[in-house]
Amino acid sequence: MAQRRTTRRTAGRRGARPAVPSPRPGSLGVLLIVSGPGGAGKTTLCEKLSAMSGGRVALSISCTTRAPRGGEVDGRHYHFISRQAFRRAAAAGRFAEHAEVAGNFYGTPRPFLEEQLAAGHDVLLDIDVQGGDAVRRLYGSRAVSIFVLPPSRRILEERLRGRGTDSPERVRARMELAEREIARAGDYDYLVINGRQEEAIAEIDAIRRAEHARITREGSGASWALKTWS
Ligand code: 5GP
Repeated sequence: MAQRRTTRRTAGRRGARPAVPSPRPGSLGVLLIVSGPGGAGKTTLCEKLSAMSGGRVALSISCTTRAPRGGEVDGRHYHFISRQAFRRAAAAGRFAEHAEVAGNFYGTPRPFLEEQLAAGHDVLLDIDVQGGDAVRRLYGSRAVSIFVLPPSRRILEERLRGRGTDSPERVRARMELAEREIARAGDYDYLVINGRQEEAIAEIDAIRRAEHARITREGSGASWALKTWS
């Protein structure tokens, strides 16, 4: 008996500081689409914001058919899968959206997304503009979209060249792809310029927080509070 009480007390102490905070009842998490040209730094912004959120902001890990780059870890940066496995998952409806980007396939796993949102956690999707379109179509006003730009075209070019791994032709091709993506920035809800990284992260976090308070966003904390306020 005493043994059981001790166990329960321990469990209670752990329960008092959960790794993942419980949601406010009735409010759904914010689905944040983050797009921008390669070289804008959006992946690092998303990773850092998620890491410093104390479990409030989950980062969706996409499936991809491209090969891992140096330092990339399966299950952390991407789920690296074969084309055949990708096709099977797409046919089974396991992606919220999927797209071909520069000859490789990328898809957002749907179950993780829906579980996190239902639990009231915000979810960051680091996806391209095609993925952004598809997620907006699927989730409507529940999705909030942010476009990330480097401070200038010159800096973007420097960043793409600075990787040092690509030929001049490859850098040109990436610049062209970047220009096509930048042309779509006007379709997004917010624009964040990634000059100083801490400021860009703070800005995305401010948008996220404001969206919880937005009355007109379906599933927001504010819309729930208005419905139930007495
Ligand atoms: P990279 O191969 O450089 O990691 O990513 C290439 C592009 O694919 C980036 O713009 C990235 O945001 C996008 N991307 C990554 N995951 C997904 C995904 O699940 N869906 C879509 N549509 N794009 C993705």
